[in-house]
Amino acid sequence: MRDVRVRFAPSPTGALHIGGVRTALYNYLLARQNNGTMILRIEDTDQGRFVPGAEEYILNSLAWVGIKIDEGVSVGGPHAPYRQSERKALYKQYAQKLIDDGNAYYAFDTEAELDAMRDKLKAAGNDNQQYGMHSRMQMKNSLTLSADETKKLIESGAYVIRLKVPAGEQIQVNDLIRGLVTVDSSQIDDKVLMKSDGMPTYHLANVVDDYLMNISHVIRGEEWLPSAPLHVLLYRFLGWEKNMPQFAHLPLLLKPDGNGKLSKRAADQMGFPIFPLTWKDPATGEVAKGFKESGYLPEALINFLAFLGWNPGTEQEIFSLNELINAFSIERINKAGAKFDIQKAQWFNQQYIKATPNDVLASQLLKESGQSVSMETALKIVSIMKERATFPQDIWEQGAFLFSAPQVFDDSVVSKKWNDEAVKVITAYKNALSGVTTIDATSAKSLLESAAASVNIGVGKIMQALRVAVTGNGSGPDLMITMEILGKDEVIRRLDYAVNTLKVKA
Ligand code: GLU
Repeated sequence: MRDVRVRFAPSPTGALHIGGVRTALYNYLLARQNNGTMILRIEDTDQGRFVPGAEEYILNSLAWVGIKIDEGVSVGGPHAPYRQSERKALYKQYAQKLIDDGNAYYAFDTEAELDAMRDKLKAAGNDNQQYGMHSRMQMKNSLTLSADETKKLIESGAYVIRLKVPAGEQIQVNDLIRGLVTVDSSQIDDKVLMKSDGMPTYHLANVVDDYLMNISHVIRGEEWLPSAPLHVLLYRFLGWEKNMPQFAHLPLLLKPDGNGKLSKRAADQMGFPIFPLTWKDPATGEVAKGFKESGYLPEALINFLAFLGWNPGTEQEIFSLNELINAFSIERINKAGAKFDIQKAQWFNQQYIKATPNDVLASQLLKESGQSVSMETALKIVSIMKERATFPQDIWEQGAFLFSAPQVFDDSVVSKKWNDEAVKVITAYKNALSGVTTIDATSAKSLLESAAASVNIGVGKIMQALRVAVTGNGSGPDLMITMEILGKDEVIRRLDYAVNTLKVKA
């Protein structure tokens, strides 16, 4: 079998969309599974769409999720440079070969002339308004102009080079996910291969580089499927058919409800991130919060993304990156679009938080929460809050009562549960607590039981009132452990405050 060499080939036109991370991931999984090579190529031939900072952002995003590049812009390699703008000189000879063999031609039409052509075809009731086999002979190009005119226009420099798509052919693309895709050549337009600024377009640069870099598999988003027949033609015309990579076009990512493509706008509206890391648009200054900054763990995000369009065919859902590498196969990728179920992403995050060692979360709490507690207390807080946390910050946001006394109390609990009996037990409990030097969860419980017994009231009846007095909330983690963490003096202070402030309903 051919050595597996795959590439992730983003264009630095802005932040990397989460779908791009999935594309990179699938490439990476195939590479690692086959002891292959993962290449990062930056496709920056469209100078008009270049966004400063985008390339660095892409590198940082891949590094954050743990996708390692073997060859590419960041690390170099035998096919350097890996940035297409730096390979500009290289593409010309291939365009020239296409022209010499009659498979491409020079075109000189202005924007206005192109518009006029489209209007004319439309007016004539022609559905196909492309620059191609139906229209090329009415246009200004080296097929219609004399050799002299052509030469003059080429010398003036304002030309593009277009592919001459052959008429009457069925072009076949063998896609590893979709099977054989056949396209009638009349559907393909004479795509521009070289622009007037001397830069190749995506199509030419992409095919030339995939060939020169000896790419074995092209794994990319479904939006590139319509370009694939054109690429197949280029491989043929350049005499590279034997080295053509295998194609796999990944299913679209859909909105959570399956209605339409997942866009940044849709994600914004639904309140979830669409970029791996926070991105500040250099043109507008607009800031979009990333998955990282929202509290997603990279391992959880990767696990979630792997399942968007692929499944292992078993019940297992939690996969480390290494397990994904072993389990992955292109054959198990679906054709149908994958719903971006953000709740599932949160579920994965929860599972990974549960599996994170307490001391890791505690160190994070000490660093990020802005609270000053000891490591010992941080560990206790983590141990009671982590079961409920979707994101690490939930531990300190939902556990705020562990750091400061409640100022507001849940009204619905107070109005239902704060009554004379509760005040009686809580007052007795306060006294009992004053008589001991320290408490832990066990002694807090037995002291409570005896305090309740001393006033002949069942503990069950006042538990919620006690909880609201200590935490402000009607529900939460184990109350006895909560009191152990707060310590006796703080519990007494809170009970005092509650007894003095909360009104017993008449
Ligand atoms: N530069 C293209 C992009 O930005 C790459 C498409 C491909 O992988 O061929 O998505």
